[in-house]
Amino acid sequence: MAERVYFDWNATALLRPQARQALLDALALTGNPSSVHAEGRAARHLIEHAREDVAQLVGARPAGVIFTSSGTEANALALSSAIETANEKRPRDRLFMSAIEHSSVRASGRFPREAIEDIPVDADGRLKLAALAEALGRASRPLVSIMLANNETGVVQPVAEAAAIVHAAGGLLHVDAVQAAGRIPCDVAALGADLVTLSAHKIGGAKGAGALVRAGDDIHFPDPLIRGGGQERGLRAGTENVAGIAAFGAAAAAARRQLADEAAQMLAMRSLLEEGLGAISPQAVIFGAGAERLPNTTLFALDGVNAETAIIALDLEGVAVSSGAACSSGKVQPSHVLDAMGVSASLLRGAVRVSLGWTTTQADVARFLGAWRKVSGALSRSSKQQRGIAA
Ligand code: PLP
Repeated sequence: MAERVYFDWNATALLRPQARQALLDALALTGNPSSVHAEGRAARHLIEHAREDVAQLVGARPAGVIFTSSGTEANALALSSAIETANEKRPRDRLFMSAIEHSSVRASGRFPREAIEDIPVDADGRLKLAALAEALGRASRPLVSIMLANNETGVVQPVAEAAAIVHAAGGLLHVDAVQAAGRIPCDVAALGADLVTLSAHKIGGAKGAGALVRAGDDIHFPDPLIRGGGQERGLRAGTENVAGIAAFGAAAAAARRQLADEAAQMLAMRSLLEEGLGAISPQAVIFGAGAERLPNTTLFALDGVNAETAIIALDLEGVAVSSGAACSSGKVQPSHVLDAMGVSASLLRGAVRVSLGWTTTQADVARFLGAWRKVSGALSRSSKQQRGIAA
């Protein structure tokens, strides 16, 4: 049987060999990182080493890194109205977020529903900066959350421009960089971010580790989500996931070293894929095509082809892709991202996300295109028959 082609890297990436080794080495250690004896100190050493590697991936200070269980938890921790800085101890009065944020940001942390406002995006899925500036006029101490790259479309957001607007309005900026890290440069200072969320398993680490990175020394959370033993400077209690964190560090170091090469390789493969797709399905729409996108992501739809059916058919052909919005229950929900971009209901139902990775080869792309030719032909024919159009 032919090997499967994995094109769902935005859901989760492959475990990097360096991360696998770090994971296994850490699992062989016994110590609790809070213990003072040699075993404990060895575990602590792994965590602090990983903290340096994760910090370096985004050009931050190691002391700014708070390890969490996931990107989801880091987002939940970040979105606190009680967040304090040296100059501002009063609660943040409003939370603004782009209309295309991941569900873990959309859940809005510890902000009350009535304090949340969406900022619209344009037809290519890019944040409307003028709308952000206008909205911030309605708040005095805003917290703003904008993702660096969207998980469905891959569209890169104008974060540095947004940061200037947010700071001019006295606000703080949280950036969900879960999909962008390791794929495009992601530097806290260049972005102007105050807080950055990362997730280990999207950059080649193991599932179950994430980080919230604070750019400055002066950002405090008086209301941590999990209290107890005081780990992570009191911001995230619980004995650390030593192996997961060690693997996260190893993945971050590898991702940083190989960023330029991997991005170039992914972009070359993605270009081949989009060319082939255009030749097979000239009517296919690639969402966000007019904007800067991550080098690995293509979200497309073909009118009359239902995404769920296409994904199952591609799976049977040995190709793993997803709909725009992967959902934990496995059910495909209509995408709030495409909805925010004003995509028509019929196209919205057909959005298929193909996301590549650093091991993707031309042969993988060819396999996908072969499978797509077969599946799209069959599905368009049956859709036309259902609508009574001669195929
Ligand atoms: N933010 C974005 C943009 C994501 O794509 C995801 C996961 O898909 C998350 C946050 C959540 O990360 P995790 O899977 O580590 O909880």
